[in-house]
Amino acid sequence: MSAIILDGSKIASDIRGEVAAEVKAMSSAGVRPGLAVILVGNNPASEMYVRGKVKSCEEPGIYSEKHTPPETVSTEELLDLVQDLNRRDEIDGTLVPLPSPPQVDSKKVLMAVDPAKDVDGFHPVNVGFLSTQRPGLVPCTPAGIIEILKRSNIPIAGQDAVVVGRSDIVGKPTAMLLINGNATVTVCHSKTRDLPGVCRRADILVAAIGRAGMVTRDFVKPGATVSDVGMNKISEREEFDQFFKGNEKREQVFTAKGSTLIGDVHPEVEEVAGAITPVPGGVGPLTIAMLMANTVRAARLRRGSRVPELSRA
Ligand code: NAP
Repeated sequence: MSAIILDGSKIASDIRGEVAAEVKAMSSAGVRPGLAVILVGNNPASEMYVRGKVKSCEEPGIYSEKHTPPETVSTEELLDLVQDLNRRDEIDGTLVPLPSPPQVDSKKVLMAVDPAKDVDGFHPVNVGFLSTQRPGLVPCTPAGIIEILKRSNIPIAGQDAVVVGRSDIVGKPTAMLLINGNATVTVCHSKTRDLPGVCRRADILVAAIGRAGMVTRDFVKPGATVSDVGMNKISEREEFDQFFKGNEKREQVFTAKGSTLIGDVHPEVEEVAGAITPVPGGVGPLTIAMLMANTVRAARLRRGSRVPELSRA
């Protein structure tokens, strides 16, 4: 048996199309959703990542702007910037820099973002809304994991779901979304006993660990759906061969780039699972698509009462 590959790139592209249509409708009602991204210092990798976010947002017509305080920025300066963005009506979403430089109290900065503009969904107010099933902003990657399941017609209600990883940004919110979807959810972490045995009970297995290929076939019930959130870079030949020896397509990427991406799930799991998200091209593309969807949602939630035709959230 070979698993159905859940094409995250295609699903993300559908969502971007839907977002573009919404932005068009909102613009004709006089509202253009806006996103502000804060990038501290000049780390080329973060800069590329942020530039990618800004560019992706501009495609469907979302207004976006980038703020680039220096590496030496203080907590107070960042708080001033965030408060300024909170006050500006044309800004619906603010992304704060994570990780931030050591002198910055990032929790304080995150707490200062208006929860209505917290398109990352990390503010405790939005965490509370999610856990009490109230309308709010949901973290992008977990929301993307659920979108893939829903749009692939994979049932959630009544299923046994196991989430490996309990981070605030992926594991916990994913578990909460699955609970809200009426799955029976187990959350695992580094202290879990008999991890393979617990995972084998899952109809839906979410791996959000950050360890290359850790989830092997003995973690997976035959026919289960596996969502691989991990993004691990492999640049050593020995490690490459351990996972991808004989895989010509991967070999080409590895030779050209000197590295390749692997998830937390071992490639052999494709032979056991019923459906699986690939890496790359699975959960990853959903994260940015859900950021755009969140920005539009924030614009609707914030202005709903003032612009009646925008009030459906
Ligand atoms: P994280 O904060 O480091 O959390 C990792 C979780 O995995 C922790 O709960 C940890 O347990 C658990 N863990 C680590 N080693 C384990 C082991 N041997 N057995 C069982 N559990 C173990 O990571 P994260 O931010 O959630 O990210 C997880 C992965 O997703 C990373 O590869 C990251 O790059 C990727 N990611 C992808 C996207 C995307 O867009 N696709 C977005 C965000 C993150 P403890 O709590 O006990 O330490």
